[in-house]
Amino acid sequence: MKPILPLFVFVDACGWEIIKNDSFGGNFAPNRKRLASVFGYSSTCVPSILSGRWPVEHRNWCYFVYDPKNSPFKSVRPLRWLPTAITSRRIFRRWLTKFVKVHLKFRGYFDLYNIPFKYITLFDFTEKKSPLKPGGMNRGPNIFDFLEEKKIRYHVSAPEKPETENLAALIQDIESEQIDFAFLYWAGLDGLLHMVGNQSPEVPAKLRVYEQWIEQLMAAAQKHYAEVRLYVFSDHGMANCDELLDLKAKIEVLDVQMEKDYVVVYDSTMARFWFFNDRARQLITTALQQVPQGRILPDAELEEMRTLFTDRYFGELIFLVKEGVLIVPSHMGERPIRGMHGYHPTDKHSYAMLATNQADIPEEVTAIPDVFKLMTRDAQLAKARNAAAKAPAGV
Ligand SMILES: [Zn+2]
Repeated sequence: MKPILPLFVFVDACGWEIIKNDSFGGNFAPNRKRLASVFGYSSTCVPSILSGRWPVEHRNWCYFVYDPKNSPFKSVRPLRWLPTAITSRRIFRRWLTKFVKVHLKFRGYFDLYNIPFKYITLFDFTEKKSPLKPGGMNRGPNIFDFLEEKKIRYHVSAPEKPETENLAALIQDIESEQIDFAFLYWAGLDGLLHMVGNQSPEVPAKLRVYEQWIEQLMAAAQKHYAEVRLYVFSDHGMANCDELLDLKAKIEVLDVQMEKDYVVVYDSTMARFWFFNDRARQLITTALQQVPQGRILPDAELEEMRTLFTDRYFGELIFLVKEGVLIVPSHMGERPIRGMHGYHPTDKHSYAMLATNQADIPEEVTAIPDVFKLMTRDAQLAKARNAAAKAPAGV
């Protein structure tokens, strides 16, 4: 029996709106708080949680950027001659994603999504390392660097594995009493919400499954640790997509050419542009100003969200749609999906949550990067107490 185990359970997309009116975690984590999210997708939310820093600081923001000089995709260039009928097929792209990931030795999450092959060599992919590993950030340290530096033994999930496998692996490490910190990552709810939306009865059903798993986890932990400090939290919520926007069609009718005059990445809720001449900048800006479903984000607002990159690495102009609007087709997907995140952080369904068995949630914990403060605080506490208990009693 050891004194303390900090147990951090990350449930992807389990937003405040998802649990607000649900009894989720009432038995094991009754103290809840709404947390502000970070502007962007999981590609930035997860690194922000893991590093305690914001996108402008860690530079893990959106996946694809215009950077032909550093494009790792040159070796798959010959494939651009394949007919779109083949390269746009989901089964082919899934195979290709795997092939490219192995071939280019990417260690993080990787998906080619719907990036057209014709343009693939214009882009770089910004998550070549896994933020769930030490040294995994584009800039600066993360929690795993911290744990290694402080020599704190920990468990972390492998998100590519099934949720139950990650649960079993953690329980095994708990039973061995080898760890002083645990980070569990479940991504299943995110996938489900994208598919069925936030009103489906499948959502509370999935929450009940998570509750059973966490109860199982707590039962195991309490057998081996006198105090289990449990934190269940998320990175963002999920909005239903009730309106589709074919932004690509509105840009492609303009008298400017992709690659020659401008480059764009259509994410599912934003479009990021790079311009090669003033004419393209003006035409596209004017066209975007006439799209009522979204707006161009001013620098001041990007700065406030800590996503203003002064080198414009992630785009010179960022167009963001209103909550509930889905850009489709986009470079993220050809077909509509029911739910999406990545809207403005102050939109209702963007908010994340934190639920804990601890009586106090410090006041300064207000946004998802603040979870990092709890992780470092509790990991150090556990290490100190667990080490003291292990040391032989003085004579
Ligand atoms: Zn998602």
